[in-house]
Amino acid sequence: MLNRLVLVLNCGSSSLKFSIIDVKNNKKIIFGRVESILSSKSYIIWSANNIEYKNILKKNITYSSALNFILNNILKKDIKLFSNITAIGHRVVHGGSKLINSVIVNDKIIEDITDASCFAPLHNPINLLGIQCALNVFPHLSNKNVAVFDTSFHTTIPEHAYLYAIPYHFYINNGVRRYGAHGINHQYISIQSAKILNKSLKKINIISCHLGNGASISAIRKGICIDTSMGFTPLEGLVMGTRSGDIDPEIIFFMYKKLGISLNEIHTILTKESGLLGLNGVSSDCRYAEKNYYTDVGAKRSIDVFCYRLSKYIAAYNMLMKGKLDAIVFTGGIGENSSLIRDITISQLSVLNFNIDKECNMCNTFDKYIYIHSKDSLPILVIRSNEEWMIAKETISLLNLKHVHE
Ligand code: ADP
Repeated sequence: MLNRLVLVLNCGSSSLKFSIIDVKNNKKIIFGRVESILSSKSYIIWSANNIEYKNILKKNITYSSALNFILNNILKKDIKLFSNITAIGHRVVHGGSKLINSVIVNDKIIEDITDASCFAPLHNPINLLGIQCALNVFPHLSNKNVAVFDTSFHTTIPEHAYLYAIPYHFYINNGVRRYGAHGINHQYISIQSAKILNKSLKKINIISCHLGNGASISAIRKGICIDTSMGFTPLEGLVMGTRSGDIDPEIIFFMYKKLGISLNEIHTILTKESGLLGLNGVSSDCRYAEKNYYTDVGAKRSIDVFCYRLSKYIAAYNMLMKGKLDAIVFTGGIGENSSLIRDITISQLSVLNFNIDKECNMCNTFDKYIYIHSKDSLPILVIRSNEEWMIAKETISLLNLKHVHE
């Protein structure tokens, strides 16, 4: 007998994740992901009843087609399952200045999310596609779609950390400030860290490194976020798959005035052609850079810049913990899988008492979490990200359904 099911859609910058969570038993009934959307090698992997399926998708598949494939070829194929879906939770990257907490989707909310697209031009439009698609396929659940924002967790960041040192009126009149992103997973990581370290959430002090195609780091003190690396948009901060992260803004004027590159092209360069891809010239996929680190100068370069920037942020955020840091946590596709990135990053932090246990660090086949520090080190954890669980939890609590426990 199927219980109440929540469909969670997480449309990311290069992948689309979905899961159906059984609220009563807190089980993922089906979960999967479409990888390499808009490229020549898109594929979908999903698991149902512990059986894994894989399908190669047509070249350059769009987000809408990928979503339709999931909804029509996987979910609708099992009518019993399909008819037991009672709510849909959506990851939305940016709530802008208006949407602070999770909300039930309606026309006004769709308008507000559209307005906030200027803060996350690569993400919000994709998140909206997911919402529109769900509204079309599940018309009977039109008032049971919940938007959960990646910016919500960062609303506790103090003014001195979220303000840019530009004329203040840009903040007051135009909302120019640091908003952060990846908050859904940073929040999940703080909840899980508290459980793993056996501390109350209100007392947990961690540095959460979410390293995926997009990457960000958050300083979480006493369970709340006090600083994060992404800013006005998800372009600021760490080196990412194709995004530059921090740069001197003068580079933009140099490209525009001296090199005659248009503003649109510069935007494309910084968001889609930079990061690991820009530095190694071949791939934004960390697996490529990791595999070729010792043989290819470009691959090495891209990983070295990635790790140097990350270790600088960790060192700075460590200072915000006032000597009471409980753990550094790695999460996200790279954080969970790249032993090399973790090793190089932590090796630059030994002066702060962080040291890797080489053997533990090589293990990437753990279930939910693993410790990777040596005996003489402060704790370093790797925790599998689970944005879907966090989104389901928010969805059912907002719709007053039964609570999800993990
Ligand atoms: P997003 O949700 O931002 O699209 P993910 O958190 O799924 O990204 O992470 C995707 C990234 O994880 C890929 O770009 C890839 O570089 C990296 N990744 C996945 N598996 C591995 C692995 N085994 N080793 C190194 N990196 C990996």
